[in-house]
Amino acid sequence: MTSTVLEAIDIGKFHGVGAGRFQALTAVNLAIAGGELTLLTGPSGSGKTTLLSILGCMLTPSSGTVRVHGHSTTGRKPEQLAKLRRDHIGFVFQSYHLFPTLTAIDNVRIALDIRGENAKQSTQKAAEVLAIVGLENKAGSYPRELSGGEQQRVAIARAIVGDPSVILADEPTAALDAENGRAVMAVLARVAKDPARGVLVVTHDPRIEEFADRIVCIEDGRIISDSRTVATREIALQA
Ligand code: ADP
Ligand code: MG
Repeated sequence: MTSTVLEAIDIGKFHGVGAGRFQALTAVNLAIAGGELTLLTGPSGSGKTTLLSILGCMLTPSSGTVRVHGHSTTGRKPEQLAKLRRDHIGFVFQSYHLFPTLTAIDNVRIALDIRGENAKQSTQKAAEVLAIVGLENKAGSYPRELSGGEQQRVAIARAIVGDPSVILADEPTAALDAENGRAVMAVLARVAKDPARGVLVVTHDPRIEEFADRIVCIEDGRIISDSRTVATREIALQA
């Protein structure tokens, strides 16, 4: 039994104005379930980042509704959207966005510090999530001392430390070689095993499809296919 953690309902999006107006998304419906890793794939320019930005409440849709953990975002003020984001959504980007002067554990902790959490609890929680991403031995390392894949795993630890209901990752493996890309996807797949948490990964990297429970394809701003992977079907039959 899974529940919907993030939902796009009949989303349309125009970029630009006047003659430059461009329809980036048309009638997009997508519900992200907890306990699943969903891949959003499609050619360059098909609308993947636009959809992810709308789901992450960083971009307002031209029409339609987004529901974050059941809360509609329509008509909300920027500070209310910021709170929804902070409480429910973790972001992972292609470039890791770590602070170069902070150690791995402090890069993770900062996500809790800005919420005003107690320092001792923040440190303990940060250490726990570094262990989840397999970096318990690198807590004191600076980003320059870590490989690209390790830096991305620190970024994933930072995204999950606030216990969000959904992780949104835009091309998280694009800058990585095959081995590091697989390590990052394995961590995201593990993070998605929690039934209370869904993971949506935007990619055009076919190497990572094996990690998905579900693959959604978008072309010219429309969802053209949405399928469960064989692995999930086998698990469902065994259950
Ligand atoms: P993808 O992530 O799949 O490569 P995007 O969502 O970035 O695609 O872009 C979808 C389409 O919208 C592209 O044609 C892109 O050029 C256009 N687009 C994206 N952002 C803007 C913007 N801020 N202003 C105008 N057009 C945009
Ligand atoms: Mg993109």
